[in-house]
Amino acid sequence: MARRITLINVTFTEPASTPLALLLLGQGSDSASERGVDCPGELPPASDPTLVARASAARAALGDRAFVLGHHYQRDEVIQFADVTGDSFTLARNAAARPQADYIVFCGVHFMAESADILTGPEQAVILPDLAAGCSMADMATHQQVVEAWDVLTDAGIADVTVPITYMNSSAAIKGFTGEHGGAVCTSSNAERAMRWAFEQGEKVLFLPDQHLGRNTAVLQLGIGLDDCVVFDPHRRDGGLTRQQLHDAKVLLWRGHCSVHGRFSVENVADVRRRVPGVNILVHPECRHEVVLAADYVGSTDYIIKTLDAAPAGSSWAVGTELNLVRRLANMHPDKQVTFLEKTVCYCSTMNRIDLPHLVHSLESLARGEVVNRIVVEGRVADNARLALDRMLALP
Ligand code: SF4
Repeated sequence: MARRITLINVTFTEPASTPLALLLLGQGSDSASERGVDCPGELPPASDPTLVARASAARAALGDRAFVLGHHYQRDEVIQFADVTGDSFTLARNAAARPQADYIVFCGVHFMAESADILTGPEQAVILPDLAAGCSMADMATHQQVVEAWDVLTDAGIADVTVPITYMNSSAAIKGFTGEHGGAVCTSSNAERAMRWAFEQGEKVLFLPDQHLGRNTAVLQLGIGLDDCVVFDPHRRDGGLTRQQLHDAKVLLWRGHCSVHGRFSVENVADVRRRVPGVNILVHPECRHEVVLAADYVGSTDYIIKTLDAAPAGSSWAVGTELNLVRRLANMHPDKQVTFLEKTVCYCSTMNRIDLPHLVHSLESLARGEVVNRIVVEGRVADNARLALDRMLALP
């Protein structure tokens, strides 16, 4: 039996069930585990030709009461309405520097909006245009898992000498845990400084949640041996590590990764070198260690942008980071050959959830005084997370 399904404003007929029928997004899954899949209100259709005009009108009506932040990985259709663009740290700082704005509209993902809420005043509302814009990496470290991991370290007698460092790309709960246990937040730009600072406070580092950034920083920037880094797998008993391994390791890497940057491989690097003579390979440190070793340049989003800005005309670049940014950089540098490191399309699907219909819905709702999709971090979690963020801001 076929049945009719209505999704927002689109009605279609689902074919009669077959063994190979595609699963609709969210159908048959645990809705309680999916943060914010409900999007209240009427979203304009994506094909509405007036969307740009509606966003412009709502933005103008809000004036200085709103401040729109756009992460580098956002779509161009959204970036055009951003008052500031940048990486997660730059955007959080910009949010904190706008106390006069009633509304911070964060075009990015959930953990970024959380950090903005922690760093802004209680009377300011941080808005995430689509509440389902999460981050697969951040979701790889839950608070419960990290508490249980800390118990393992405590039982092994090493928790007292271990300092947690969490990447900005983690939930407020993980940042709160880190702050509570004497640690700090870091970004891909200051991971080296954060890790050096941590080794001044203790003997070991627990790096959350991105094993690749942790490994690349420890090995390539601090000169720590690969063998001194072990991976703590939250899905295995005691992290899959023996007592001896826990005692011997200098860096405990959480088993998490970015599903976008984790796709790049050494085969991609070899392939592009074959296809483009003289190409420079430029990658983000969220890429796997072997990819970073095979590349010519490695650095944060900010570093990637500056490297291409400074590159001579006529030079060729294959860039291993999110595709929206690589395409924008290619358009900005028509005198240079800028290509994506992988052949297949690789957008960050959660970043891409923020589209023009969601932005219009948020801006128009705010313009008529209705606060939608607000992200709030409160109480001890916010206090402890602020502690970890402040320690990062105080890094030399
Ligand atoms: S690019 Fe990776 S780390 Fe960034 S939001 Fe997407 S999944 Fe998360």
